[in-house]
Amino acid sequence: MSEVAVLERAHVAAPAPWTPQRVRSVRRWTDHLFSFAIDRPEDFRFRSGEFVMIGLPSLDGAGKPTLRAYSIASPSWSDELEFFSIRVEDGPLTSRLVDIRPGDEVLLGNKPTGTLVLDALKAGRRLFLIGTGTGLAPWLSVTRDPETYERFEQVVVTHTVRQVADLAYRDFLQAELFDDPLVGEVAQGRLTYYPTVTREAFERPGRITDRIRSGAFFDDLGLERRFDPASDRVMLCGSTAMIREVAALLESHGLSEGSNAEPGDYVLERAFVG
Ligand SMILES: Cc1cc2nc3c(=O)[nH]c(=O)nc-3n(C[C@H](O)[C@H](O)[C@H](O)COP(=O)(O)OP(=O)(O)OC[C@H]3O[C@@H](n4cnc5c(N)ncnc54)[C@H](O)[C@@H]3O)c2cc1C
Repeated sequence: MSEVAVLERAHVAAPAPWTPQRVRSVRRWTDHLFSFAIDRPEDFRFRSGEFVMIGLPSLDGAGKPTLRAYSIASPSWSDELEFFSIRVEDGPLTSRLVDIRPGDEVLLGNKPTGTLVLDALKAGRRLFLIGTGTGLAPWLSVTRDPETYERFEQVVVTHTVRQVADLAYRDFLQAELFDDPLVGEVAQGRLTYYPTVTREAFERPGRITDRIRSGAFFDDLGLERRFDPASDRVMLCGSTAMIREVAALLESHGLSEGSNAEPGDYVLERAFVG
């Protein structure tokens, strides 16, 4: 290779690990929770339950973009990519992301990844998807994937939040999902939505950990008061505190953590500290 060619090659920048994508829609649930959907590039492949980096360019356009991990709330067959986001006061990304509108651009990472996927679980009969706050996002993906119902007879989605208004997607999980042309019929009678609220009066008050520990969770579902390692599989997503507590409970019931390399009885993803 000539000296000029070597120099030219050295100046060719590596492709960016993200691409700009157009915002299709935005939905605001409360002043601190919102969802948005963006175009899905044709070559963007992911498994239901995975996360990807989402971001915005630097404010002056010259510096590094601000990117954060986000669970994809759409199932793997969808032609758009939906996300469910918190707005953190003074958060480097979300204090700006909260203002996006249809037609704006956000940056989408090229490499979805994660452990909240069916492949990381052994075969089972019942699937428990336990989420707090925006940790509901991967369940919106997994519950819309037909493979979930091929692998499991019963699917339980829990969502624990502080205020009733934070129960985003409540109508979707209670009713609209059952009209979904792809999974609506198979989900009928097999998918149970189990919301709990910690800081306001609600039909099911309290933290999910307390309800599991007291047995109320199992009683409500008409199940025996324990997770069964032979048939129960669990995914956890949300606050570090909830994940630590539920994972310890699952271990005490004889369930073992799985991974993509070695499927197990439960998998987890810490989405935020708190
Ligand atoms: C694997 C993974 C998946 C994630 N998926 C999502 C998702 O689907 N939706 C989402 O909103 N966030 C998700 N997060 C968190 C996300 O990456 C950012 O932290 C969040 O968007 C805030 O970004 P920020 O720059 O505004 O503030 P940051 O500087 O990133 O966060 C500031 C502080 O806010 C708190 N915080 C951050 N995210 C949350 C949250 N989601 N709920 C409650 N408190 C939070 C934490 O205490 C954190 O220290 C995920 C994180 C990981 C690691």
